Amino acid sequence: MLVLDCPFCGPRNESEFAYGGPALAPRPADPSAVSDADWVDWLTVPPNPMGEVEERWWHLRGCGAWLTVRRHTVTHAVTEVRLGR
Ligand SMILES: [Zn+2]
Repeated sequence: MLVLDCPFCGPRNESEFAYGGPALAPRPADPSAVSDADWVDWLTVPPNPMGEVEERWWHLRGCGAWLTVRRHTVTHAVTEVRLGR
């Protein structure tokens, strides 16, 4: 079970949070210059690397804050939790 250290509430179980997707999914500056396949990939395929990722989590059953969490996808080790993006 993942434990996230909310800056307001302290360490809390994953079940109090809702996953909000990857934190850094930069939108193409000019979508019309991107191929249809790349655009569909950007819209529908979340990044899933082996290693550290940044994700958005909402403390749904706590303070209601949106957090950015840096987590290793293999070990699930959380190395950073911060407010905002
Ligand atoms: Zn909280």
